[in-house]
Amino acid sequence: MISNRELFLKNTAQTSNSPRLIEVERAEGIYLYGPDGKSYMDLVSGFNVSNIGHRHPKVLEAIQDQLSKFMHVTVYGEFVQAPQVHFATELLAQLPSSFGSVYFTNSGAEAVEGAMKIAKKFTGRREIIAARKAYHGSTQGALSLIGNDAYREAYAPLLPEVSFITYNDLQDLDLISDKTAAVFMEAIQGEAGIRVPDRAYMQALRDKCTACGTLLIFDEIQTGFGRTGKLFAFEHFGIVPDILMLAKGIGGGMPIGAFVSAKEIMDVIKDNPMLGHITTFGGHPVSCSAARASLKVILAENLIPQVEEKAQLFRSELDIPQIKEIRGLGLMMCLQLESFEQVYAVSNYCAEQGIIIDWYLHCETALRVAPPLTISKEEIKTACKIIREAIAKFC
Ligand code: PLP
Repeated sequence: MISNRELFLKNTAQTSNSPRLIEVERAEGIYLYGPDGKSYMDLVSGFNVSNIGHRHPKVLEAIQDQLSKFMHVTVYGEFVQAPQVHFATELLAQLPSSFGSVYFTNSGAEAVEGAMKIAKKFTGRREIIAARKAYHGSTQGALSLIGNDAYREAYAPLLPEVSFITYNDLQDLDLISDKTAAVFMEAIQGEAGIRVPDRAYMQALRDKCTACGTLLIFDEIQTGFGRTGKLFAFEHFGIVPDILMLAKGIGGGMPIGAFVSAKEIMDVIKDNPMLGHITTFGGHPVSCSAARASLKVILAENLIPQVEEKAQLFRSELDIPQIKEIRGLGLMMCLQLESFEQVYAVSNYCAEQGIIIDWYLHCETALRVAPPLTISKEEIKTACKIIREAIAKFC
C-alpha cells in the first residue's frame, strides 16, 4: 500500500526539496505523536501557534459547543455572529483604548493585506516602509514587504512604492516622511533570527510616525498572545502602534487572524466604495470560539507571568560555549550556532530523539525555540539535555 509519506510527496505541493517528513497522527499538550507511537516534544509550537499547547480541553469544548450551533453562515461583516462579536469585545478589552475595531481574517498574511489597504486609504498616501529582513507573509502584498531580495526578485513585480529601513537603526528613521502611509514592523523580528529592538528605537519610531502622520503598524503575528512574556510585545516598549496585526497564537490551533485599529481608521472600508475589504471565511465562528477560549486560558492559567522564569531556565540549561548567543524575549528564542550544517544536523538529531526544533527563513545559522507556554520546568530540562547532547555531537 502506498504510504502517507509517498502520497504527501506525490500529491501535495512541496515547498522545499527537503521536507521534514515527520508524520503526525495525533497531538496533545506539548507533544505530537507519530503513527508508530513515537512522541515529539513540539518546541516550535507549530510555528508559534500552539501557545497553550495542542488540543487544549477548553478549546475543544468551545469548538464542540459552537459546532452544535452553527458553522459558516455568511460572508464576514453581514450577520451578527456571537463568537465574532464576543471575541472582538474581549480582545479590545485587553488593548489600549485607542483600539476600537477588529477585522477578522483567516491568516496572518491576510491581516497584513487588510492593514496595508486601510493605511493607504486612511492617509491618502501610497508609500509604505518596511524593515530589511522582515517577514510578513507570502501573499503578493505581504511579500512586497519582505526584506529579502531573493524572495522579492523571484516573484517580481511586487507592490510599487515600498522601501526598506534597517531594523533598530535610528538613523534610518529619517526615511519616514509625510509621504509615508505606514511603517510595518515586527515587534520583534522573527524570521531574521529573533532580533529584539531597543526600547529607545521603538520610542523614536513611534515619535517619528506621529510627527509625519504615518501609521505605525505592528506585526504581532509571532509575538502575540503571551509569547514574549506580555500579552502583546509592544507592551515591552512603552508605545502603542496604530494598527496591530495578529494571527498564529490567536486561535488556540484554529486558523484565524485579525487587524485591529481605531474605529475611524477601520471605517474607511465601509464606503467609497462600499465593501472595500471583504472575506468569505474570515472570522469563522468556530475559529472565533476557539480563539475566545484560548485567550481565556492564557489569562486564567496565568501563563504569561511564568514565561520569563521558563525562558531563564532555557538560558541556564543551554549556557554552553558552542551556542554563541541566545537571542530573544520570553519564550521566543534563538540559539545562534556557526553554520547551517550544524543547525541541520542538530535539528535532525533532536527530531530523532523526539524534540522538534527548527531554524529561521532569513537566518539559517540559528535554532528556533518557541515552545508552548504550558511547557513544564521538567520538560524544559529534558529538552535542553537532548539539545546539549546534539550540539556536543555536531558543533
Ligand atoms: N508575519 C509574521 C511575523 C510571520 O511570522 C508570519 C508567518 O510566519 C506571517 C506574518 C504570515 O502569517 P500566515 O502564515 O498566517 O499568513
